[in-house]
Amino acid sequence: MARLVDRLPENADGELFVDASCIDCGLCRQLAPGSFVRLDRAGMSIVARQPTNDAEALRAKMALVSCPTSSIGSRSKVPLADAIGAFPEPLGDEIYFCGFASESSFGARSYLIRRPEGNVLVDSPRALPRLLDRIEALGGVRWMFLTHRDDVADHAKLAKRFGCTRVLHTNDITADTRAVEMTIDGDEPTSLDHDLLAIPVPGHTRGSTALLFRDFALFSGDHLFASESGDELHAYRSVCWWSWETQKRSLTRLLAFDFEWVLPGHQGRMRAPSREVMREQLRAAIDRARRVL
Ligand code: SF4
Repeated sequence: MARLVDRLPENADGELFVDASCIDCGLCRQLAPGSFVRLDRAGMSIVARQPTNDAEALRAKMALVSCPTSSIGSRSKVPLADAIGAFPEPLGDEIYFCGFASESSFGARSYLIRRPEGNVLVDSPRALPRLLDRIEALGGVRWMFLTHRDDVADHAKLAKRFGCTRVLHTNDITADTRAVEMTIDGDEPTSLDHDLLAIPVPGHTRGSTALLFRDFALFSGDHLFASESGDELHAYRSVCWWSWETQKRSLTRLLAFDFEWVLPGHQGRMRAPSREVMREQLRAAIDRARRVL
């Protein structure tokens, strides 16, 4: 629960505020860019502008309920049912954003893919019962694809609720995830179904794996990020926990695949107008990464 006594002084006057417990995951800025900005001095978010209409208020409340550290508060009691019910949020093409990030995964984003053969949950949101009810109403979860060891959050609760098959690369299994139902081995892509391809991308962690849906959308975990504005792709040496040289090789291997949408575990998302444009964006990201030793 955000505390008024810890309110950052740079917040705009008004109902909503961010307190000093913010971990700078950027999720509020992604959900409600008109209300939240980054305060570079503190490495935290603040409310730069209070919502001025119902649509803005809803977006800001969606950020409030999704914040992994409950760092967004309101001076008075505001109804949140509409914001909670807005998740999973449809992004288009049967892909949904789950919101409700977990602090244990540093606010990592999770996504639901809705498909006739069975839905796929990519990484784990907080297991909030009302969110899980909404996911159930959208068809439940058949597969839970875990991109790497860090963003697994409430995977066990979700597996219990939906009876889904959790998928994780062998090299990222920990004591917490040793009960996953399916593992991926080696570095070669593995087909999970006709429209789902698991692509090992070791580097950020040894077992990082991306999921390619319909040669169209790449769920890249922490291997490949998009800037908050969604106009550039990046890989970061500063958050590479295993092997930067291997991560750079994994980035290059992605050039062999077609996709026009990148949905990472943190920061922004990038949607390109075509696969060719996305490939050019990926090449630019690889060039940037190669300049970092
Ligand atoms: S969602 Fe919460 S933790 Fe993340 S940047 Fe916003 S206020 Fe900070």
